[in-house]
Amino acid sequence: NEELLINSEKLYIAGQLAAGIAHEVRNPLTSLKGFLQLMSSGRGNSQHFYDIMKSELVRIESIVSELLMLSKPQVYDFAPKDACRIMADTVTLLNTQAILHNVIIEFHADYRPLWVMGVENQLKQVFINLIKNAIEAMQSGGVVAIYMSQDEAGEVIIRIRDEGTGLSREQLSTLGQPFYTTKDKGTGLGLMVTYKIVDNHQGRITAESEMGVGTTFIIRLPYTRPQE
Ligand code: ADP
Ligand code: MG
Repeated sequence: NEELLINSEKLYIAGQLAAGIAHEVRNPLTSLKGFLQLMSSGRGNSQHFYDIMKSELVRIESIVSELLMLSKPQVYDFAPKDACRIMADTVTLLNTQAILHNVIIEFHADYRPLWVMGVENQLKQVFINLIKNAIEAMQSGGVVAIYMSQDEAGEVIIRIRDEGTGLSREQLSTLGQPFYTTKDKGTGLGLMVTYKIVDNHQGRITAESEMGVGTTFIIRLPYTRPQE
């Protein structure tokens, strides 16, 4: 009986997600079709049209690539990875973008390997999504502080703290719902994908926030032994 319930719940969520995706992809498609019709009728051929069409295509592309991350990796894709090194790579990758937003990324770790069983691209995606959100939450710049450590129980703990707008209690409970965004160019898929990946890695993720002060995301991943 309980199993049946869980199944129908899953179907419901899949239905919601499908409806959301269809909606989000149809809008830019409709607009692309409209512009193509205009252009083939000989009217409008300006650079401006190309620019709009390109941004609509980029939108579809970003929705699709975020959704691809939802596909579950196979067991054999998992291997011991140094989360500390992956984070260091990610920070290097995002530094230029941070500087453009007047944001400084501080990385607090003692640069010793913190081994977790994982899929490198997916772990990187988690770090990128959270750091990007942190940067975007600070309209007039600030500091994103990243802390990495290991606790007595052996868990690897990653904290990503920003000095951004913060989230209300209500918003906090909304996080991770598909297509929830407060941004003009947001997809509202980043956190859903992030939560899913952390879950696939047997990890946990939590968030603490205070309005006007900032937000901290905390990821816990089981420690693993490095490959001999
Ligand atoms: P997107 O970034 O495309 O909007 P996300 O799933 O990454 O989608 O985030 C969903 C929403 O959660 C954001 O639009 C924002 O309102 C809120 N949010 C996420 N991270 C933070 C943060 N660090 N500080 C403030 N708000 C955040
Ligand atoms: Mg995001």
